[in-house]
Amino acid sequence: MLIDRSQLLWNVDCGVRLRFPIYGVLIDHAEGVFLFDTGYDLGHAQRVFAHEEPIQQPGETVAEQLSFSGYRPEDVKYIVNSHLHFDHVGGNRHFPAATVLVNKRELRQAKVPESFERYAYSDQTFDHSDVRYELLEGDTEIARGLRLFETPGHTVGHYSLLIETTSRPPMLFTGDAAYSMEGIEREIISGFHNDPTAGVRSIKRLRQLARKYEAEFFVPHDMEAYRGYRRAPESYDG
Ligand code: ZN
Repeated sequence: MLIDRSQLLWNVDCGVRLRFPIYGVLIDHAEGVFLFDTGYDLGHAQRVFAHEEPIQQPGETVAEQLSFSGYRPEDVKYIVNSHLHFDHVGGNRHFPAATVLVNKRELRQAKVPESFERYAYSDQTFDHSDVRYELLEGDTEIARGLRLFETPGHTVGHYSLLIETTSRPPMLFTGDAAYSMEGIEREIISGFHNDPTAGVRSIKRLRQLARKYEAEFFVPHDMEAYRGYRRAPESYDG
C-alpha cells in the first residue's frame, strides 16, 4: 500500500508518500503450523483504502504463498495475530479450522473501537461464525521457543513475537509496535496509535528484548528491510 511517510514515523516528512509491504509469517513448529498475521484482503483494501492504492502481485495470496512452501490451508493449526487491524487479519478467514491466538483486550477493542480506530479495524471477517479463539493476557510462551510480549500503544492489546530456533539467532517480529527499522533506531512510533506514550515505551521494550535475547529484528512495514527477508519458498531453517 501507499502511505505518507508520517504514518511510518509520526510527524516526520509529512507529504512524502511511499510504498510499504504487508506480510505474514509461517512457523513450522513441533506443536503444529503457526501463522503470525495474515496480511490484508485485497477486495477489502480496494473498497475501504482505495486512496492507499493497494497492490497484490501475482502469487501473493495467502493460499499461493503457502503452496509455494508445500503447505495447504488446512495444515495451519494456529493463527497468532499481533493485533486485529485489517492488514494483519485479512487472510484469517481462509483458515476456519485454525485456533486464533490473540490478546483479550485487543479482541474487545476491535469489537468496540474508539471512533478514530474504526477504519483500522474495518475488516471484521476474522470474526467468522466458525472462529475459535484462545484469548491471551500478559507475556506468554505459546509453544516452546515462541514467546509473545505485550507491546501496547499502537493498539491496546498488541503482541510482538520472539522465535527461538536452534540454528540461528532469535528472531523478534515487532508487529506494528515498530513499523520500520528507522522507527526502532529513532524510537519514533507510527502515525496511527491508540496511546503514544505506551507506544514509545514498547519500542524501548523491544530494544531491551533484542539485547537480552541477542535477537534480530523483523519489522512489518519497511520496504528496504523487507527486500532483504527470505520469502516463500525460501525459509529460515531452524
Ligand atoms: Zn496496525
